[in-house]
Amino acid sequence: MNEEKAQSLAADLLREVLGDNWNTEDKPELVDTPRRYVNALREILVKDNGFKFTTFPNTANKSEMVTTGPIQYHSVCSHHVLPFFGRAWVGYVPDQRLAGLSKLARTVKWMSRGLWTQEDLTSEIAVFLEENLQPIGVAVVMTGEHLCMTIRGVQSPGTITTTSEMRGCFLNPTKQARMEFYNNVRNI
Ligand code: ZN
Repeated sequence: MNEEKAQSLAADLLREVLGDNWNTEDKPELVDTPRRYVNALREILVKDNGFKFTTFPNTANKSEMVTTGPIQYHSVCSHHVLPFFGRAWVGYVPDQRLAGLSKLARTVKWMSRGLWTQEDLTSEIAVFLEENLQPIGVAVVMTGEHLCMTIRGVQSPGTITTTSEMRGCFLNPTKQARMEFYNNVRNI
Protein backbone atom coordinates (compact mmCIF):
# COMPACT_ATOMS: atom_id res chain seq x y z
CA MET A 1 0.00 0.00 0.00
CA ASN A 2 1.20 3.50 -0.83
CA GLU A 3 1.09 5.13 2.60
CA GLU A 4 1.42 8.71 1.40
CA LYS A 5 -1.29 8.29 -1.23
CA ALA A 6 -3.66 6.65 1.26
CA GLN A 7 -3.21 9.53 3.73
CA SER A 8 -3.74 12.17 1.08
CA LEU A 9 -6.90 10.40 -0.18
CA ALA A 10 -8.17 10.15 3.40
CA ALA A 11 -7.58 13.91 3.86
CA ASP A 12 -9.41 14.60 0.56
CA LEU A 13 -12.35 12.47 1.62
CA LEU A 14 -12.66 14.22 4.99
CA ARG A 15 -12.36 17.62 3.33
CA GLU A 16 -15.08 16.77 0.78
CA VAL A 17 -17.46 15.39 3.38
CA LEU A 18 -16.86 18.03 6.08
CA GLY A 19 -16.38 21.15 3.96
CA ASP A 20 -15.63 24.13 6.18
CA ASN A 21 -15.60 21.92 9.23
CA TRP A 22 -12.36 20.36 8.01
CA ASN A 23 -10.04 23.13 9.05
CA THR A 24 -6.57 22.14 10.12
CA GLU A 25 -5.57 25.75 10.84
CA ASP A 26 -8.21 26.28 13.52
CA LYS A 27 -7.97 22.70 14.70
CA PRO A 28 -4.33 21.62 14.66
CA GLU A 29 -5.30 18.29 16.23
CA LEU A 30 -6.73 17.35 12.80
CA VAL A 31 -3.36 17.55 11.06
CA ASP A 32 -2.46 13.98 11.95
CA THR A 33 -6.00 12.62 11.59
CA PRO A 34 -5.64 11.23 8.02
CA ARG A 35 -2.63 9.17 9.13
CA ARG A 36 -4.47 7.89 12.20
CA TYR A 37 -7.57 7.16 10.10
CA VAL A 38 -5.59 5.10 7.57
CA ASN A 39 -3.84 3.20 10.37
CA ALA A 40 -7.13 2.48 12.11
CA LEU A 41 -8.70 1.25 8.87
CA ARG A 42 -5.75 -1.02 8.24
CA GLU A 43 -5.89 -2.36 11.77
CA ILE A 44 -9.58 -3.29 11.59
CA LEU A 45 -9.74 -4.34 7.93
CA VAL A 46 -6.55 -6.18 7.07
CA LYS A 47 -5.93 -9.73 8.29
CA ASP A 48 -2.49 -10.42 9.68
CA ASN A 49 -1.06 -13.51 8.05
CA GLY A 50 0.41 -14.98 11.20
CA PHE A 51 -2.64 -17.13 11.96
CA LYS A 52 -2.19 -20.88 11.63
CA PHE A 53 -5.09 -23.19 12.33
CA THR A 54 -3.54 -26.27 13.88
CA THR A 55 -5.35 -29.53 14.58
CA PHE A 56 -4.35 -32.73 16.30
CA PRO A 57 -5.39 -36.35 15.74
CA ASN A 58 -8.45 -37.64 17.53
CA THR A 59 -6.61 -40.63 18.98
CA ALA A 60 -9.18 -41.24 21.74
CA ASN A 61 -11.97 -41.30 19.12
CA LYS A 62 -13.93 -38.54 20.79
CA SER A 63 -17.30 -38.23 19.13
CA GLU A 64 -19.17 -35.82 21.38
CA MET A 65 -19.96 -32.25 20.44
CA VAL A 66 -17.56 -29.47 21.38
CA THR A 67 -19.17 -26.05 21.86
CA THR A 68 -17.27 -22.87 22.65
CA GLY A 69 -18.37 -19.28 23.24
CA PRO A 70 -19.28 -16.55 23.63
CA ILE A 71 -16.44 -15.25 21.47
CA GLN A 72 -16.44 -11.45 21.26
CA TYR A 73 -15.76 -10.28 17.74
CA HIS A 74 -15.84 -7.05 15.76
CA SER A 75 -16.04 -6.59 12.04
CA VAL A 76 -16.93 -3.95 9.45
CA CYS A 77 -20.09 -3.96 7.37
CA SER A 78 -19.37 -4.29 3.66
CA HIS A 79 -22.29 -2.03 2.71
CA HIS A 80 -21.46 1.05 4.79
CA VAL A 81 -17.90 0.48 6.05
CA LEU A 82 -19.15 0.90 9.63
CA PRO A 83 -18.39 -1.46 12.51
CA PHE A 84 -20.60 -4.25 13.74
CA PHE A 85 -19.78 -6.38 16.76
CA GLY A 86 -21.20 -9.06 18.94
CA ARG A 87 -20.72 -12.61 20.12
CA ALA A 88 -20.21 -15.93 18.38
CA TRP A 89 -20.58 -19.57 19.38
CA VAL A 90 -18.95 -22.41 17.51
CA GLY A 91 -19.79 -26.10 17.77
CA TYR A 92 -18.44 -29.15 16.02
CA VAL A 93 -18.64 -32.90 16.18
CA PRO A 94 -15.14 -34.29 15.62
CA ASP A 95 -14.15 -36.97 13.16
CA GLN A 96 -10.40 -37.66 12.64
CA ARG A 97 -9.10 -34.30 13.92
CA LEU A 98 -9.57 -32.08 16.98
CA ALA A 99 -9.01 -28.34 17.18
CA GLY A 100 -7.27 -26.55 20.02
CA LEU A 101 -10.03 -24.59 21.79
CA SER A 102 -8.21 -21.29 21.42
CA LYS A 103 -8.09 -21.91 17.66
CA LEU A 104 -11.87 -21.75 17.42
CA ALA A 105 -11.93 -18.33 19.09
CA ARG A 106 -8.95 -17.20 17.01
CA THR A 107 -10.69 -18.31 13.82
CA VAL A 108 -13.71 -16.13 14.61
CA LYS A 109 -11.57 -13.10 15.44
CA TRP A 110 -9.24 -13.58 12.46
CA MET A 111 -12.03 -14.17 9.94
CA SER A 112 -13.92 -11.12 11.23
CA ARG A 113 -11.22 -8.76 9.98
CA GLY A 114 -12.30 -7.18 6.71
CA LEU A 115 -15.52 -6.12 5.06
CA TRP A 116 -18.36 -8.51 5.69
CA THR A 117 -22.08 -8.94 5.89
CA GLN A 118 -22.84 -10.81 9.11
CA GLU A 119 -24.58 -13.53 7.10
CA ASP A 120 -21.53 -14.19 4.91
CA LEU A 121 -19.10 -13.99 7.84
CA THR A 122 -21.09 -16.64 9.71
CA SER A 123 -21.14 -18.95 6.68
CA GLU A 124 -17.46 -18.45 5.87
CA ILE A 125 -16.36 -19.25 9.44
CA ALA A 126 -18.27 -22.53 9.15
CA VAL A 127 -16.75 -23.24 5.71
CA PHE A 128 -13.24 -22.50 7.04
CA LEU A 129 -13.72 -24.89 9.97
CA GLU A 130 -15.23 -27.55 7.74
CA GLU A 131 -12.27 -27.38 5.37
CA ASN A 132 -9.61 -27.31 8.06
CA LEU A 133 -11.11 -29.72 10.58
CA GLN A 134 -13.22 -32.01 8.39
CA PRO A 135 -15.64 -32.70 11.23
CA ILE A 136 -18.87 -34.71 11.18
CA GLY A 137 -20.61 -31.36 11.45
CA VAL A 138 -20.03 -27.73 12.34
CA ALA A 139 -22.36 -24.99 13.60
CA VAL A 140 -21.79 -21.27 13.99
CA VAL A 141 -24.22 -18.77 15.50
CA MET A 142 -23.46 -15.05 15.73
CA THR A 143 -25.19 -12.04 17.21
CA GLY A 144 -24.32 -8.57 15.98
CA GLU A 145 -25.12 -4.93 16.60
CA HIS A 146 -24.54 -2.89 13.44
CA LEU A 147 -23.63 0.79 13.73
CA CYS A 148 -25.07 1.33 10.23
CA MET A 149 -28.44 0.47 11.80
CA THR A 150 -27.98 2.16 15.17
CA ILE A 151 -26.35 5.54 14.44
CA ARG A 152 -27.67 6.18 10.90
CA GLY A 153 -30.45 4.99 8.61
CA VAL A 154 -33.22 3.44 10.69
CA GLN A 155 -31.45 4.52 13.94
CA SER A 156 -32.51 1.53 15.93
CA PRO A 157 -30.08 1.20 18.85
CA GLY A 158 -29.98 -2.11 20.67
CA THR A 159 -31.35 -4.10 17.73
CA ILE A 160 -29.46 -7.37 17.52
CA THR A 161 -29.18 -9.56 14.44
CA THR A 162 -28.66 -13.30 14.81
CA THR A 163 -27.24 -15.43 12.00
CA SER A 164 -26.37 -19.09 11.87
CA GLU A 165 -24.77 -21.68 9.65
CA MET A 166 -25.24 -25.41 10.16
CA ARG A 167 -23.32 -28.05 8.26
CA GLY A 168 -23.00 -31.84 8.23
CA CYS A 169 -24.79 -33.60 11.12
CA PHE A 170 -26.30 -30.29 12.26
CA LEU A 171 -28.53 -30.50 9.17
CA ASN A 172 -29.75 -33.98 10.12
CA PRO A 173 -33.58 -34.04 9.87
CA THR A 174 -33.91 -35.34 13.45
CA LYS A 175 -32.38 -31.98 14.53
CA GLN A 176 -30.74 -33.73 17.47
CA ALA A 177 -27.30 -32.10 17.00
CA ARG A 178 -28.87 -28.72 16.39
CA MET A 179 -30.94 -28.97 19.58
CA GLU A 180 -27.89 -30.05 21.62
CA PHE A 181 -25.87 -27.15 20.20
CA TYR A 182 -28.50 -24.52 20.99
CA ASN A 183 -28.91 -26.03 24.43
CA ASN A 184 -25.15 -25.68 25.01
CA VAL A 185 -25.22 -22.09 23.73
CA ARG A 186 -28.03 -21.23 26.13
CA ASN A 187 -26.08 -22.67 29.04
CA ILE A 188 -22.79 -20.84 28.49
ZN1 ZN B 1 -24.24 -1.66 6.88
